[in-house]
Amino acid sequence: MAELHSHPVPSYLDPAHPGPWGIYLEQVDRVTPYLGNLARWVETLKRPKRILIVDVPVELDNGTVAHFEGYRVQHNTSRGPGKGGVRFHQDVTLSEVMALSAWMSVKSAAVNLPFGGAKGGIRIDPHLYSHSELERITRRYTSEIHDIIGPSKDIPAPDVNTNGQIMAWMMDTYSMNEGRTTTGVVTGKPVSLGGSLGRIEATGRGVYVIACEAARESGIDIKGARIAIQGFGNVGGTAARLFQEAGAQVVAVYDHTGIVYDERGLNVPGLLEHVHETGGVAGAPGTQSLDPKEFWSLETDILIPAALEGQITHENAGLIRTRILVEGANGPTTPEADDIISAKGTVIVPDVVANAGGVTVSYFEWVQDFSSFFWTEQEINHRLEAMMRSAYSAMSGVARQHGVSLRTAAFIVACSRILEARQVRGLYP
Ligand code: GLU
Repeated sequence: MAELHSHPVPSYLDPAHPGPWGIYLEQVDRVTPYLGNLARWVETLKRPKRILIVDVPVELDNGTVAHFEGYRVQHNTSRGPGKGGVRFHQDVTLSEVMALSAWMSVKSAAVNLPFGGAKGGIRIDPHLYSHSELERITRRYTSEIHDIIGPSKDIPAPDVNTNGQIMAWMMDTYSMNEGRTTTGVVTGKPVSLGGSLGRIEATGRGVYVIACEAARESGIDIKGARIAIQGFGNVGGTAARLFQEAGAQVVAVYDHTGIVYDERGLNVPGLLEHVHETGGVAGAPGTQSLDPKEFWSLETDILIPAALEGQITHENAGLIRTRILVEGANGPTTPEADDIISAKGTVIVPDVVANAGGVTVSYFEWVQDFSSFFWTEQEINHRLEAMMRSAYSAMSGVARQHGVSLRTAAFIVACSRILEARQVRGLYP
């Protein structure tokens, strides 16, 4: 973390433990030497544009009142309105939401979407609350951040533990406060409410498309490729299904309930069914269970962390034996782990491109809402694949040109786009 001395950690974070924001700052430092004259503006990327912390008081079903901490951070809006999900998780911190908002800026720019980056969160374990409690929590949170969101200001979306229903409540609350139905204020809405076809599957589909591009470049045939996935929710589950349909073998899946393994390839539809019924992969019929150490040590062609950030650290990076690591989650690999894994010759496809399928179809949803004209699922998947492939090829071209990792290359592409916009807009006043 020596580079951290080159810039101040903001006073509102603990300088000794800057958390995920510290990881993001290191990533920016690694890319700065490649930004040429634009490096003059790089401090812009090291400071979120706006941070809002709100108290979310809610009456629970038992009549007591609980208070939750809510956040919305807008990292950058140079290229367009803020964009990014809202997560409900008991471990949400300001540092985490700041880093996630910055990764959204980088992600939007890496895929060339006309958005900046933002992120929100509530520090809550949503599994402990009823449907109506969650509705009240969501509505109060939305009211508290109302002033800074909007279809041309900042557009929330689903993230960890949030979904179409939560987006519908957010859209309704915003619309009631505005006095008009405003579908474009959030994306990831149900299709009955101006949502887009293909949005739910978009992140997993994007992971699959990007993994296929990386495999092709490494001379790996997807048919027969051995794949392990951490996380079997919206992202990991969809990607697993698409891999299996393409003839790959998903040999191991790791979720919050356990790890299942089948040397000959798991039965993915059966596993999805088991998760639907029991809430997790543990105990799926016909599978063997592994411990985490065994999971990370599996010899695979493609490993996909698609759960939370900070899963691959200096502690387990040494175990990893995969040819390609595709980051389905945001920030799953610490910079130290990244160095350890890259030194073995493993290709790491960074989150900001690998999981950009979600925000790409969010962009399609936002465009469809503005024009009140809706596309077919086929059209959406086709456009999604084209945008993901072109983002991969821009990143891979820059990696070759400068002899850098795909992550540094994605950051070079994205940060240059953001800072070019920043420079040409100029400083106000
Ligand atoms: N939460 C998703 C992400 O991290 C999607 C964000 C969006 O669609 O705005 O990329």
